[in-house]
Amino acid sequence: MVLIAKRMINITFPDGAVRQYEPGVTALDIAKSISEGLARKVLAANVNGQVVDATRPILTDSTLQLLTWVDKDGKATMWHSSAHLMAEALEALYPGVKLGYGPSIENGFYYDIDLGDRTISEDDLKQVEAKMVELSKRNSEYVRKEVSKADALAYFTEKGDQYKIETINELADGSISFYTQGGFTDLCRGPHIPNTGFIKSIKLTSIAGAYWRGSEKNKMLTRIYGITFPNQKELDEYLTLIEEAKKRDHRKLGKELELFAFSEKVGLGLPMWLPKGAMLRERLQRFLQEAQIASGYLPVVTPHIGNKNLYVTSGHYEKYGKDSFQPIHTPEEGEEFMLKPMNCPHHCELYKVSPKSYKDLPVRFAEFGTVYRYEQHGELHGLTRVRGFTQDDAHLFCRPDQVKEEFQKVIDLVMYVFNSLSFTEYTAQISLRHKTDRSKYMGSEENWELAEKAIIESAAEKGLNTVVEYDEAAFYGPKLDFMVKDALGRKWQLGTIQVDYNLPERFELEYIGADNQKHRPVMIHRAPFGSLERFIAVLIEHCAGKFPLWLAPTQVKILPISDKSQAYAEKVAELLKKAEIRAEIDDRSEKIGKKIREAELAKIPYMLVLGEKEAADNVVAVRRQSKGDLGTMPLEQFTTMINEEVANRKPIE
Ligand SMILES: [Zn+2]
Ligand SMILES: [Zn+2]
Repeated sequence: MVLIAKRMINITFPDGAVRQYEPGVTALDIAKSISEGLARKVLAANVNGQVVDATRPILTDSTLQLLTWVDKDGKATMWHSSAHLMAEALEALYPGVKLGYGPSIENGFYYDIDLGDRTISEDDLKQVEAKMVELSKRNSEYVRKEVSKADALAYFTEKGDQYKIETINELADGSISFYTQGGFTDLCRGPHIPNTGFIKSIKLTSIAGAYWRGSEKNKMLTRIYGITFPNQKELDEYLTLIEEAKKRDHRKLGKELELFAFSEKVGLGLPMWLPKGAMLRERLQRFLQEAQIASGYLPVVTPHIGNKNLYVTSGHYEKYGKDSFQPIHTPEEGEEFMLKPMNCPHHCELYKVSPKSYKDLPVRFAEFGTVYRYEQHGELHGLTRVRGFTQDDAHLFCRPDQVKEEFQKVIDLVMYVFNSLSFTEYTAQISLRHKTDRSKYMGSEENWELAEKAIIESAAEKGLNTVVEYDEAAFYGPKLDFMVKDALGRKWQLGTIQVDYNLPERFELEYIGADNQKHRPVMIHRAPFGSLERFIAVLIEHCAGKFPLWLAPTQVKILPISDKSQAYAEKVAELLKKAEIRAEIDDRSEKIGKKIREAELAKIPYMLVLGEKEAADNVVAVRRQSKGDLGTMPLEQFTTMINEEVANRKPIE
């Protein structure tokens, strides 16, 4: 008898360890060979860089990462599989329902469905959830089957689902697969989790209308959103977070705190700032301006529009012209202006006003420049997606050898801004070129290497928590983006620093080097806030409208107990004004309890309760928002306390 040794395949794990398995082994088998506990957690697998079913046979030497709930791709696989489970439940409850697309999204999943003449309301979702729970408990496997185009079409023709038929018609024969779990089959490329039993906790969150394939020409389908978790605890935490996020929604708080407003008559997506919001903006601007002046920035001011040719030169017209606000015509033949979509081209022209030598660099032009960008109606959202906004913009023009130092200084500035505003958790993404394909980039290899190295080193030296992403750089330069985590743990992209080799070329910017020759400066775009609108939106949600004292629109509410202490209240208000403290009197003839409650709700940091006794003793009774009574003190002591808190920019507690 001859024993033929089976050829084994090498599986390389993320830590570099290599183990041998028989060909045809699945990621789930491999997980089981490590531990049963691990196998119970595996949702999908990354095999050679591709996310696949954990039950797919692996036939050749491969790299393998087992994906669980902690991995982004693990979550996405679970959520997409949950969309299939929801479809199965819908089919059971509403026979004849037709299905569009059912992808996973950032938080959960949705499925677009066509219920024919029937309608579904949010009240019906409970029943769908219950059905999903029932089906999930069957632990039905998600079984993959490759099918021919003809068979795929036959299946859905028989079923009468024109959406699937339309989708299949666009697919190439030989690339089509079905997935079946329980009694439900869907057209899908996958991957999916091993079985429905992984889906333990289910919440269908909302219903919306969505045009088939996003086109208004097509039928409006019903989109059902949902989210699932591997346990009840995480679902509960998520629901609490959603509730808290609703309370902190900047659109709601912005209205309540009288910060900003929108008017359809003025135009969608064009925020207007009420006095309290405008003053908050000004304080933020002043704060950054002071820091910038200390860092060698020079202020400039440029107009809100620019000649169309400016954007033809910059390349923006070619790239964004069609999808932007259209040119403004003047009575003069052929003269066209664009609403400014960015400040950079204006600043390039300012750089050229006078000749520069290597000793003049870096030149740092800063401007709170308002720009206008067209966004579709459906994309607009409060202050975070708008059509007009003010960037805390600056452009640094420097020599290639100065890039690193400039980067370090900008990182310092951004960190100073975040720390001053109690954003203590942030990470930075460094976006570099494609690892090997360098054909699409503008600028010399030498300068790119210098800049990429400068960014990586500066970030490391500043102790920034970074992730490096290849192939994420713009064609014109590498960049570094800051993501902050807010009080609810949500991530927001704020500040950005970006190297640019393109605009200096297009605008033919020059400086005379030490060698007496002409050279191109490097341009760096940077904005620590990103935009004032977006930053304030994030700040409102981060601090739930309880701004740190130095930013609070109203710092002190003076609450006279009755008409008898009105005169004393006015005297206190006058003295606070002299001490540059922003105070208001609530002189309505309401009960003091009600006045305190309302000041609390309005998130006013300090309240001064003034009765006849306080007037007689020439003192103030102080209350701190959400903390309560701080006792009685002379007004002078109070103003000193306030001014110190403001001067130190004491963060929110
Ligand atoms: Zn699927
Ligand atoms: Zn710029």
